[in-house]
Amino acid sequence: MKILENIPIASLTTMRLGGPARFVIEIEKPEDVPEAYNFAREHELPVFVLGGGANTLGHDEGFDGVLVMNKLVGINIDMHGDSATVHAMGGEVWDDLVAKTCEAGLTGIEALSKIPGTVGAAPVQNIGAYGQDISQVLVSVEVFDTADSTFKTLTAADLGFAYRKSILNSSEYGRYFVIAATFELHVGQMARPFYKSLEKYIADNNETDFSPAAIRRMVSAIRADKLPDPAFIPSAGSFFKNVYVDDARADELLAQGFPVYRGHDGNKINSGWLIEQAGLSGKVLHGFRVNEKAALVLINESASSYADLAAARQEIIDIVFKKFGFKLEQEPVEIL
Ligand SMILES: Cc1cc2nc3c(=O)[nH]c(=O)nc-3n(C[C@H](O)[C@H](O)[C@H](O)COP(=O)(O)OP(=O)(O)OC[C@H]3O[C@@H](n4cnc5c(N)ncnc54)[C@H](O)[C@@H]3O)c2cc1C
Repeated sequence: MKILENIPIASLTTMRLGGPARFVIEIEKPEDVPEAYNFAREHELPVFVLGGGANTLGHDEGFDGVLVMNKLVGINIDMHGDSATVHAMGGEVWDDLVAKTCEAGLTGIEALSKIPGTVGAAPVQNIGAYGQDISQVLVSVEVFDTADSTFKTLTAADLGFAYRKSILNSSEYGRYFVIAATFELHVGQMARPFYKSLEKYIADNNETDFSPAAIRRMVSAIRADKLPDPAFIPSAGSFFKNVYVDDARADELLAQGFPVYRGHDGNKINSGWLIEQAGLSGKVLHGFRVNEKAALVLINESASSYADLAAARQEIIDIVFKKFGFKLEQEPVEIL
């Protein structure tokens, strides 16, 4: 394993904020994982597991602890008839895995094209987009369990997947280090009707090919049009969680003209819509721009301090609360 010292968190996270992490340990083989945790224990320091930093925020004072990063790579596609068992190491870039499976003609994760980050982080919040999420195709994850210092395999059922949720970011947060993930994909294509904005793109562009590679191309084009590419424009993707309400409240809100989506996971109001309706689209607050095309995304235009982010966040929360009575909650996690 590689041990680095005093690395700015801003250089490891897509929002580009945060002071130095005292140690960064890069995992180069699975056996490094227990060693990294032992190192932290010996130095009496906390551990934070970091992937590509696309859903994570650093604080100005940095992190007096150990950032452990999965750098294990390798993708194996094992075809059997019309299906394939796909095994990917957790340090792989998620989108590289999607590209490879699409090239192999496999359906299951093509709509998850261009989601930034690593394979190891993907199960943590059950990444999803355009009608797919990984709970639909993930078979299992190999993990290191810090509770008893053993390597284990957890099945999809063990992970308790829900909307942007698993036990890895809720009841068992911080307990497991994801080493690798296994997916079951199939030769074929997604069933129609697709997600609304994908159908609109298909109609607007007279698309007729819905193979995984074609869907990947279309999703990539839709995303490039409305979402900042973290390689060039700092953001943490969706900055606020969507709002969920119970059935009675959903009825009231629908009667008042609110767009409430009744999905399998509850009654959802898109927080981006609330921010937009509050007149905040395109506004710059404390160096952060509310993205015009996807108001849920905050772009770091000129801020270099977490304090600026906290001020912008509070202003948005207050304005939306004053207008609609909903208290928005932050989606990205913080390195603490
Ligand atoms: C522009 C943009 C667009 C985005 N679009 C989407 C989208 O469409 N859909 C979507 O679902 N998300 C989206 N995201 C969010 C982000 O891409 C996902 O959350 C992604 O899974 C983060 O991966 P990461 O490797 O960067 O994780 P990090 O930000 O490094 O970590 C996220 C969480 O996972 C934990 N973690 C990371 N690696 C491991 C590991 N090996 N073992 C255990 N825990 C680990 C961390 O401790 C942290 O709690 C977007 C983000 C950006 C910046």
